[in-house]
Amino acid sequence: MILVYPGSFDPITNGHLDIITRAVYICDKLIVAVGSNEAKKPAFSVEERIDLIKCTLGERDDIMVTSFSGLLADFVKKVGAKAVIKGLRAMSDFEYEFQMALLNKNLEPDMETLFMMTSVNYSYLSSSAVKEIAKNGGNIEGLVPECIREKVMKKLACR
Ligand code: ADP
Repeated sequence: MILVYPGSFDPITNGHLDIITRAVYICDKLIVAVGSNEAKKPAFSVEERIDLIKCTLGERDDIMVTSFSGLLADFVKKVGAKAVIKGLRAMSDFEYEFQMALLNKNLEPDMETLFMMTSVNYSYLSSSAVKEIAKNGGNIEGLVPECIREKVMKKLACR
Protein backbone atom coordinates (compact mmCIF):
# COMPACT_ATOMS: atom_id res chain seq x y z
CA MET A 1 0.00 0.00 0.00
CA ILE A 2 1.23 3.48 -0.89
CA LEU A 3 0.55 6.28 1.60
CA VAL A 4 0.93 10.00 0.91
CA TYR A 5 2.01 12.27 3.77
CA PRO A 6 1.32 15.84 2.62
CA GLY A 7 2.30 19.07 4.32
CA SER A 8 4.24 22.30 4.11
CA PHE A 9 7.30 21.03 6.01
CA ASP A 10 8.57 24.61 6.33
CA PRO A 11 10.88 23.24 7.77
CA ILE A 12 10.55 19.56 8.73
CA THR A 13 10.37 19.17 12.53
CA ASN A 14 10.85 16.23 14.86
CA GLY A 15 7.03 16.03 14.97
CA HIS A 16 6.92 15.39 11.22
CA LEU A 17 9.83 12.96 11.49
CA ASP A 18 7.98 11.02 14.20
CA ILE A 19 4.92 10.62 11.95
CA ILE A 20 7.12 9.61 8.97
CA THR A 21 8.99 7.01 11.02
CA ARG A 22 5.77 5.47 12.34
CA ALA A 23 3.79 5.73 9.09
CA VAL A 24 6.41 3.91 7.06
CA TYR A 25 5.80 0.80 9.20
CA ILE A 26 2.18 0.53 8.10
CA CYS A 27 2.71 0.90 4.35
CA ASP A 28 4.98 -0.38 1.61
CA LYS A 29 5.89 3.06 0.37
CA LEU A 30 5.47 6.49 1.93
CA ILE A 31 5.41 9.52 -0.34
CA VAL A 32 6.28 12.68 1.56
CA ALA A 33 4.61 15.37 -0.54
CA VAL A 34 5.70 18.97 -0.04
CA GLY A 35 2.92 21.37 -0.97
CA SER A 36 4.05 24.64 -2.54
CA ASN A 37 1.36 26.62 -0.70
CA GLU A 38 2.61 30.11 -1.58
CA ALA A 39 -0.31 31.67 0.32
CA LYS A 40 1.39 30.55 3.56
CA LYS A 41 4.46 32.68 2.60
CA PRO A 42 6.95 29.89 3.30
CA ALA A 43 10.40 30.74 4.69
CA PHE A 44 12.06 27.95 2.68
CA SER A 45 11.55 27.32 -1.03
CA VAL A 46 10.04 23.97 -2.07
CA GLU A 47 13.52 22.80 -3.17
CA GLU A 48 15.05 23.79 0.17
CA ARG A 49 12.26 22.02 2.07
CA ILE A 50 12.76 18.86 0.01
CA ASP A 51 16.54 19.03 0.57
CA LEU A 52 16.05 19.33 4.34
CA ILE A 53 13.74 16.29 4.36
CA LYS A 54 16.09 14.25 2.16
CA CYS A 55 19.04 15.26 4.32
CA THR A 56 17.10 14.04 7.38
CA LEU A 57 15.91 10.74 5.93
CA GLY A 58 18.83 9.78 3.70
CA GLU A 59 18.37 7.50 0.71
CA ARG A 60 15.58 4.97 1.40
CA ASP A 61 13.70 2.56 -0.85
CA ASP A 62 10.49 2.85 1.18
CA ILE A 63 10.26 6.66 1.23
CA MET A 64 10.01 9.09 -1.66
CA VAL A 65 10.18 12.85 -1.18
CA THR A 66 8.59 15.05 -3.81
CA SER A 67 6.57 18.22 -4.30
CA PHE A 68 3.02 18.71 -5.47
CA SER A 69 0.85 21.60 -6.50
CA GLY A 70 -2.83 21.76 -7.22
CA LEU A 71 -5.33 19.47 -5.56
CA LEU A 72 -4.05 16.82 -3.17
CA ALA A 73 -6.77 14.45 -4.43
CA ASP A 74 -5.38 14.70 -7.99
CA PHE A 75 -1.82 14.10 -6.80
CA VAL A 76 -2.87 11.04 -4.78
CA LYS A 77 -4.62 9.57 -7.81
CA LYS A 78 -1.64 10.32 -10.07
CA VAL A 79 0.82 8.43 -7.86
CA GLY A 80 -1.50 5.45 -7.49
CA ALA A 81 -2.13 5.86 -3.75
CA LYS A 82 -5.45 5.19 -2.04
CA ALA A 83 -4.89 7.10 1.17
CA VAL A 84 -3.21 10.07 2.77
CA ILE A 85 -1.94 10.15 6.32
CA LYS A 86 -2.04 13.28 8.48
CA GLY A 87 -0.63 13.95 11.92
CA LEU A 88 -2.99 15.18 14.60
CA ARG A 89 -1.85 17.39 17.44
CA ALA A 90 -4.43 19.18 19.57
CA MET A 91 -8.10 19.91 19.02
CA SER A 92 -7.10 22.90 16.89
CA ASP A 93 -5.75 20.52 14.20
CA PHE A 94 -8.92 18.46 14.31
CA GLU A 95 -11.33 21.06 13.00
CA TYR A 96 -9.20 21.95 9.97
CA GLU A 97 -8.27 18.33 9.21
CA PHE A 98 -11.90 17.21 9.57
CA GLN A 99 -12.95 19.80 6.99
CA MET A 100 -10.12 18.85 4.59
CA ALA A 101 -10.88 15.13 4.92
CA LEU A 102 -14.56 15.68 4.11
CA LEU A 103 -13.80 18.00 1.19
CA ASN A 104 -11.34 15.48 -0.23
CA LYS A 105 -13.87 12.67 0.21
CA ASN A 106 -16.31 14.74 -1.77
CA LEU A 107 -13.76 15.32 -4.54
CA GLU A 108 -12.42 11.77 -4.60
CA PRO A 109 -14.71 9.23 -2.87
CA ASP A 110 -12.14 6.40 -3.24
CA MET A 111 -9.46 8.28 -1.33
CA GLU A 112 -9.17 7.77 2.42
CA THR A 113 -7.64 10.16 4.97
CA LEU A 114 -5.96 8.42 7.91
CA PHE A 115 -4.89 10.18 11.10
CA MET A 116 -1.98 9.35 13.33
CA MET A 117 -1.89 10.87 16.79
CA THR A 118 1.20 12.90 17.63
CA SER A 119 3.63 11.54 20.18
CA VAL A 120 3.16 13.39 23.45
CA ASN A 121 6.64 14.96 23.24
CA TYR A 122 5.77 16.72 20.00
CA SER A 123 2.20 17.75 20.64
CA TYR A 124 3.25 21.40 21.06
CA LEU A 125 5.62 21.43 18.09
CA SER A 126 4.95 23.21 14.78
CA SER A 127 7.09 24.58 11.97
CA SER A 128 5.85 28.08 12.77
CA ALA A 129 7.03 27.76 16.39
CA VAL A 130 10.45 26.60 15.15
CA LYS A 131 10.66 29.59 12.79
CA GLU A 132 9.68 32.03 15.50
CA ILE A 133 12.29 30.68 17.93
CA ALA A 134 15.04 30.50 15.29
CA LYS A 135 14.32 34.01 13.98
CA ASN A 136 14.87 35.35 17.46
CA GLY A 137 18.07 33.42 17.98
CA GLY A 138 16.57 30.84 20.37
CA ASN A 139 17.67 27.24 20.75
CA ILE A 140 15.86 24.81 18.44
CA GLU A 141 17.75 21.75 19.67
CA GLY A 142 15.37 18.79 19.98
CA LEU A 143 12.74 20.53 17.83
CA VAL A 144 14.20 19.78 14.40
CA PRO A 145 16.36 16.87 13.24
CA GLU A 146 19.92 17.48 14.44
CA CYS A 147 21.44 17.23 10.95
CA ILE A 148 19.43 20.25 9.70
CA ARG A 149 19.59 22.42 12.83
CA GLU A 150 22.51 24.56 11.64
CA LYS A 151 20.98 25.07 8.19
CA VAL A 152 17.66 26.19 9.69
CA MET A 153 19.40 28.59 12.08
CA LYS A 154 21.58 30.00 9.31
CA LYS A 155 18.57 30.72 7.13
CA LEU A 156 16.38 32.23 9.84
CA ALA A 157 18.42 33.72 12.65
CA CYS A 158 18.82 37.49 12.80
CA ARG A 159 22.37 38.62 12.96
P1 ADP B 1 2.83 22.85 10.45
O1 ADP B 1 3.24 23.92 9.49
O2 ADP B 1 1.54 23.13 11.16
O3 ADP B 1 3.89 22.40 11.40
P2 ADP B 1 2.52 21.07 8.12
O4 ADP B 1 1.54 21.71 7.20
O5 ADP B 1 3.91 20.99 7.63
O6 ADP B 1 2.47 21.60 9.60
O7 ADP B 1 2.01 19.63 8.53
C1 ADP B 1 1.97 18.50 7.75
C2 ADP B 1 1.30 17.40 8.52
O8 ADP B 1 2.08 17.08 9.68
C3 ADP B 1 -0.08 17.74 9.07
O9 ADP B 1 -0.87 16.57 9.01
C4 ADP B 1 0.19 18.13 10.51
O10 ADP B 1 -0.93 17.92 11.33
C5 ADP B 1 1.31 17.17 10.84
N1 ADP B 1 2.14 17.65 11.95
C6 ADP B 1 2.81 18.81 12.04
N2 ADP B 1 3.47 18.90 13.22
C7 ADP B 1 3.18 17.75 13.90
C8 ADP B 1 3.53 17.25 15.19
N3 ADP B 1 4.29 17.95 16.02
N4 ADP B 1 3.04 16.04 15.56
C9 ADP B 1 2.26 15.34 14.69
N5 ADP B 1 1.88 15.76 13.47
C10 ADP B 1 2.34 16.96 13.07
